[in-house]
Amino acid sequence: MNLILLHPSDLDHQGHACITDARRLAHLRDIHRAALGDRLTVGVQGGLMGKAQLVELTTELAVFALDPLADVPPPALPVHLVLALPRPRMLARTLEHVTALGVKEITLLHTKRVEKSYWQSPELLPEKIHQHLVLGLEQSRDTQLPSVTLTKGFRPFLEEQLPALLRGRRGLVAHPGMPMACPRGISDNTLLLVGPEGGFIPWEVEKLLDAGCEGMHLGPRILRVETAVTALLSRLF
Ligand code: SAH
Repeated sequence: MNLILLHPSDLDHQGHACITDARRLAHLRDIHRAALGDRLTVGVQGGLMGKAQLVELTTELAVFALDPLADVPPPALPVHLVLALPRPRMLARTLEHVTALGVKEITLLHTKRVEKSYWQSPELLPEKIHQHLVLGLEQSRDTQLPSVTLTKGFRPFLEEQLPALLRGRRGLVAHPGMPMACPRGISDNTLLLVGPEGGFIPWEVEKLLDAGCEGMHLGPRILRVETAVTALLSRLF
């Protein structure tokens, strides 16, 4: 928690913020080893960031006196990430990583090699997804939550969503063995598609290329989804 992310409801009108939840209190105590008078970095969800002084700390609550907040969060990456739904633990970590890296639009997609049972996982409950996004924002000092869309059919995605997603975006499909190497340092608005742990099937790749996406590879090493996504985002942007 390099940033204490405040919910607008944590704030009063006198420039104070009060947090009472066990997670943030434990983090303040155990990781920050916070003491009265400490000045910490805070940010308001969806808003500005700045410094705040810890003015009260008990086992039940922490109260901060906020400086006038004036810092804008870091810029977002120009990418909409389409991720074939990985296994729940990998999903949790991947959501944190990509949020920390600045992705603001995420679609979780069903493809042939996604285990159907993953769609029943409690990790997909809105509050669980929210938790991982918040951890990513706190890690990277950002306040803007990404949006996450669940798309449980590949064909409906192809027919109903992909054409609109590709309008004004460069579509890039990460797939080992493609002839083109992953581009570096681009500033194009991008739609980045990453396959499941078993990869995209040839038919899916063909359909994505037919729709106007470019296939690309990251070299001969096959990476886990969470590693591949991190490597792809760093190399692309
Ligand atoms: N078993 C699959 C690989 C799956 S890796 C296969 O051999 O094709 C999971 C996903 O990460 C892939 O679908 C791809 O989107 C991405 N990925 C991992 N390593 C990659 C590489 N070297 N080049 C391009 N994409 C890669």
